[in-house]
Order: sequence, then C-alpha cells, then structure tokens
Amino acid sequence: MGEIAQKLHALKEAGLYRTRKETQTPCAPSVVVNARRMLAFNSNDYLGLAADPRVVEAFKEGASLYGAGSGASHMISGHSLAHAKLEEQLATFMSAQIESARALYFCTGYMANLAVVTSLVELDRSHSEIFSEAVNHASIIDAVRLSRAKCSVYPHCDYERLGELLRTSNAKNKIVISDGVFSMDGDIAPLKELLRVCSETGAWLIIDDAHGFGVLGKRGRGILEHFNVEHSSVIYMGTLGKAAGVGGAFICANEQLIDWIIQKARSYIYTTAAPPATAHALLTSLELIGSAEGALKRAHLTQLTTQFKKGMRSIKGQWNLLGSETPIQPVVIGSNEDVMRASLELDALGLWVTAIRAPTVPVGSARLRITLSATHTEQDVDQLIAGLRQIAELETSGVKP
Ligand code: PMP
Repeated sequence: MGEIAQKLHALKEAGLYRTRKETQTPCAPSVVVNARRMLAFNSNDYLGLAADPRVVEAFKEGASLYGAGSGASHMISGHSLAHAKLEEQLATFMSAQIESARALYFCTGYMANLAVVTSLVELDRSHSEIFSEAVNHASIIDAVRLSRAKCSVYPHCDYERLGELLRTSNAKNKIVISDGVFSMDGDIAPLKELLRVCSETGAWLIIDDAHGFGVLGKRGRGILEHFNVEHSSVIYMGTLGKAAGVGGAFICANEQLIDWIIQKARSYIYTTAAPPATAHALLTSLELIGSAEGALKRAHLTQLTTQFKKGMRSIKGQWNLLGSETPIQPVVIGSNEDVMRASLELDALGLWVTAIRAPTVPVGSARLRITLSATHTEQDVDQLIAGLRQIAELETSGVKP
C-alpha cells in the first residue's frame, strides 16, 4: 500500500474517515440526500432563510442587477453597490450594540476571523499576545497560527484564569477572542464577565458570534443584544451563511478599526469579492431577521429547543446532554465507533444527524450534533426524540447491530 493509501486506511480504522453526502433539494428539514428523503437536524439554517422564497427571489434579482460574479477583489473592481449597501445595513443593524459601528463584509467567516486576528496583531507586531478560549472554532485557531503572535489558551469560560493570564502578561497589545455561542457545545459565553475582565486589563475583545447572530436577542442582534450590551467596544464577527441563510460574514467594530482591517487584512485584500447577488440577497435576510416575523421564528425555535430537552430527559441512556439553551443540542456519546453507529441507526430511521469526532471535539467526546431550525415542526422534534429513544434502548439492552 502506498503512503497515502495507508494513511487513509488508518483513518478508517480509527473511525475518523470523513465522507460527504449529496443533497438534491434546498436546505430544509425535509431533504433528499443520496437519493433518499430524510428529516434533517444538522444545518445551521436556524431561521429557515436558506430556502425562503423571498431570499431566493432577492438572490435572483441580485444576479439580474449585478451579474453572476464580482470579477475582482474589493480593492480592484469587485466592490459593488450591493456590497456597500449590505455593509451599511449591517452597521445600522448593530449600531445600538457597537460604538460608532461600521461593518465589513467577507466571503466567509473563516476569512473574517483570519482578517480580524492578523490585523489586530499587525497593530503592534512585537508586543502582541492573544488569549484564546479553549474550545474556540478551528478558524480562530488557524487565525492565531497565521498571526504568529504569542498565544495563551484559557480553559473554557474560566475568566478568573483569563484575568490572571492578562494581568501577568507583558504584552502591550492584548487580544482576547472567544466564540459567542460555542459551536459544538451550544452554550453561550457569559459576555458580561468577559467584558469586565477585558476592560480591567485593557484588552481587545473579539467575539465570534457565528451561531448567535440572528438567533439570540429580541431582534436577532446576537449575543450583545442577548446580554443587553450597548455601545460597546467589542469587535464583533457574525456569519451570514447560518441564521441569515445565504453566505459570507461580517466584522462590525468602530470606524477606525474597520478602516485598519481594510488596509491590512490579507484574507480581505487578496481574494475575489463574493458575488454581489449574495450581498443583495442578504439585504432581504437582514430585514427578515429584524422583523416581527423574525421574532416569531426565534420564539418557535426556543419552544422547539425546550421540547427537545424535555424529551431527551425522558430517555434513559448513557448519553450526556450539555445543558445548552441554544438550537445547538449536542448528545455526547463518547467513542468514535459508538457515535458513528448511532448516526447510522438514525439514518436507517430516516433521520439525518451528523456525528462529530476529534479533532473537531476533544477525543472521547464524540457526539451527535443536533441542530434545530425554526422550519422544524413539533412533530419533527417528536420524531427525532422517538428515534433517539429507540437507539438508546438498543444501546442499553446491549443489542448492537
Ligand atoms: N466561527 C464559528 C464559531 C463557526 O462555527 C464557523 C462555521 N462553522 C465559522 C466561524 C466559519 O464561518 P464560515 O462557515 O462562514 O466560514
């Protein structure tokens, strides 16, 4: 066997081999995947906007107005009126939460994280230190690596430890970065405490609210609104391919800092701008997120989350629920083998739930990452719980197909 074949074989043996499934219908609870109709609980389309006819129509309109592609990077000729309008609307949307808010649109959240971290380090290259939360998203870890700055990792939500690290650091340019909603656990970072530690020690605070934007807060303004944080100096990253249903991401911060990121961020400067139609469609998404209908969708999502948690408490099994209050509801199973089996058993019942393994989550905490969407019904959630109950009973009776 050649070297690559051997390595691929080893991944399969360890239960770590990754495969993709093909969907043949729009993102929705009911999807055709690998030619079978399934009930899906694994998208981040929390408000069901990915296939909302109004957003789809706006996308088409955007393509008619601006064509299919942007043609170049933002600095050359790719920055369209649609991008500019979106940035303006995003800044207005976040203006109560962030002092002198300005927004910058990116092709992906991954690139936005690379941009914000590297350009903050660039403010004072030799005197910077990053303080990164232990369970931060992979894109943050990669951003830190790319910045080549010193980095201290603090334990999950341990702000006493973070405070110690910040106080004993000699760095002049201190940068703290954390997910807002933790993507694999679903819990929400206690933002007020984080803000207090950062302001006491003069550190920047970057919040990656990929899973909070559109979902948390009365009007969907994410973790900042959830905790009633107003006019803050937080550097906020929200993604637009999850609750907003389209694609891309934005950074919202004060005017000057955004200007600096435009000057310095290589993941902004050296890439073709996203198709303007994407930005145009997002104008409609944003309106829907902030509307009364958006609030109703969030209320329904909360109801489904409560229903799911209640249903899960009635299942006797070895599984660990993490107590998340968000639509991310992980069921921690443990080993790769067990989680893959659970996912396959659910698949046989027509339920599409994805197994998440290391290195996405720590070794030994492989899990089913269940995500709920406002387009799910109570009956859908009942069906999921019934499926989970059935496989839990198989597990406890020792019958392993
Ligand atoms: N941050 C977090 C917390 C995420 O979960 C993700 C995507 N899963 C990203 C950043 C990256 O966003 P995008 O998918 O837009 O690249």
